[in-house]
Parts: sequence; C-alpha cells; structure tokens
Amino acid sequence: MKCHDPCGACCIAPEITSALPNMPDGKPAGVRCVNLDSENRCMEYEKRPKVCREFNP
Ligand code: SF4
Repeated sequence: MKCHDPCGACCIAPEITSALPNMPDGKPAGVRCVNLDSENRCMEYEKRPKVCREFNP
C-alpha cells in the first residue's frame, strides 16, 4: 500500500484495545492517538508497540 504522508488515519480510525504509549487502555475508534504530532506523525515511532508495528492498513 502506498501511504499518503502525512495522514495519521491508522492512528485515528481503528479501535486499539492494547496499551499504547501514554494511552495504557488503548483507544476507541475515531479517537486521535495522543502520540500523533501536529503533522500526524508518531512521536513515539521508535518505541511504538507491537500492535502499531504489525498493523496492516
Ligand atoms: S503509538 Fe504511534 S503508531 Fe501507534 S497509534 Fe499512536 S501515533 Fe500511531
């Protein structure tokens, strides 16, 4: 898949039920991950958890 950069949709649209950095309970669908910066890039990219590394857009 070719991503549109910056986008952030993968970090906003899905429900994530496992812990994220600074969001220990994960997040509901449609909620912006707190680790996205103002340009929709992950501020914890090097430390992002398995659920993020293995997400298939
Ligand atoms: S931790 Fe980073 S990669 Fe994972 S959902 Fe949040 S912003 Fe996206």
